[in-house]
Amino acid sequence: ELAGLLDVSFAEIIGKCMGLGIMVSINQRLDAEVIELVASEFGYDVEFINLEQEAEEEEDDVDDEEDLLPRAPIVTIMGHVDHGKTSLLDYIRSANVVAGEAGGITQHIGAYQVKTSTGKKITFLDTPGHEAFTAMRARGAKVADVAVIVVAADDAIMPQTREAISHAQAANLPMIFAINKIDKEGANPEKIKEQLAQMNILVEDWGGKYQSQEISAKKGLNIDLLLEKIGLEAEMLELKANPDRLATGSVIEASLDKGRGYQSTILVQSGTLNQGEMAVCGQYYGKIKAMFNERGQRVQTAGPSTPVQVLGLNGAPQAGEKFKIYEDENDAKEVANHRAQIMREQGIRARKHITLDEIGRRLALGNFKELGIIIKGDFDGSVEALSDSLQKLSTEEVAVNVVHKGVGQITESDVLLATASDAIILGFQVRPSSQAAKLAEQENIEIRTYSIIYDAIEEIKSAMEGLLEPKV
Ligand code: GDP
Repeated sequence: ELAGLLDVSFAEIIGKCMGLGIMVSINQRLDAEVIELVASEFGYDVEFINLEQEAEEEEDDVDDEEDLLPRAPIVTIMGHVDHGKTSLLDYIRSANVVAGEAGGITQHIGAYQVKTSTGKKITFLDTPGHEAFTAMRARGAKVADVAVIVVAADDAIMPQTREAISHAQAANLPMIFAINKIDKEGANPEKIKEQLAQMNILVEDWGGKYQSQEISAKKGLNIDLLLEKIGLEAEMLELKANPDRLATGSVIEASLDKGRGYQSTILVQSGTLNQGEMAVCGQYYGKIKAMFNERGQRVQTAGPSTPVQVLGLNGAPQAGEKFKIYEDENDAKEVANHRAQIMREQGIRARKHITLDEIGRRLALGNFKELGIIIKGDFDGSVEALSDSLQKLSTEEVAVNVVHKGVGQITESDVLLATASDAIILGFQVRPSSQAAKLAEQENIEIRTYSIIYDAIEEIKSAMEGLLEPKV
């Protein structure tokens, strides 16, 4: 294909690739950087047109400021296991049934919307935890606007609390801290705030910028205040969308139901979705036959920030996949089939992520600005030392960004975060779990392990100077 575009023979392309030290065969897909390099050898500039990107650009282009209307915030709840995430989601779900509407929230469809006592709507992602959230982000979805980090006041900031904070920060989400279980004897909210301060996270009572709220998810204490604070955060974010256009959004979850066929929960992020429209979700498409809300009721339309379960797609897309409505049925089929073809060719391989060997090449292309790193180690002291030294390697051209650091084995959650943030993972005296190693291989995430800090620093340093000897 490239030979055709450049009007040269495929042997010449393969020759140029070999000249660049890249071995390719005729039916192999080249990655973007290689295409750029090869094309420039033949005197061409390359402009990539990407279907997803096209869709995004369209979204960005079309909306005039005056068409934008306020939309509800979308909230994700994260925190350490057993600190009360599910209890909080359950309480909000049961307590805030929209006034005057029959029927409570009866179904788990992956997200639900509630109305606060002051009449504001808030949408909650109904699968708690940073893994679910980051897995969606790894597929390119930007679903949440605000993260509520739950910390149990009778416990402490735990490893997964730190992870949750890193995951929220990597996604640029504003955080609100819900200090939970204040009904329990021995609950000490001040201790939690102090521990946050030690991580450079100052809550408002401590003169900082982060809102926090002491709650009891079990007793339903102060949940209204927490919802108010979420509303406040949302107001500051001035969240807006244009309801008056063809809908786009993200898939929250999908499954195959024996009676109903493929059912997918979709979060509308822009535009309004109508029954009967033609949707594309990843590599699947179909006319929307029916839509249901979280109360199990049929609905005909769904506007921005509304989650709905839709029937009619010809498959189950993955969580985090984008969806888009097409006016023309044939266009929709074409886009979906094209994607399916790419998926088949690449096996379900994820996009290419950064590796140390890649850095030199990306530097040469001049489009490499930031090296994301996740550090795991056996002791806090060594993790901190490594993190400090690596951050000092930042130059004017490339900044080192430590996306997350923590003590312990390299986990699947680290790999997901690396996927979502295009980062590499460094392990100091620790190794990946077998699931993490498997996922890293699937997602093309580089994991490097070291037993000497100096080695790690030297290797990153040479990579950033473009001097790393490529592995053969
Ligand atoms: P998750 O793992 O973060 O989703 O935590 P859960 O919501 O499953 O809660 C873990 C345990 O803590 C359960 O036994 C809950 O009943 C209990 N729990 C959650 N919130 C509170 C609370 O505010 N007060 C008390 N006393 N217990 C709570």
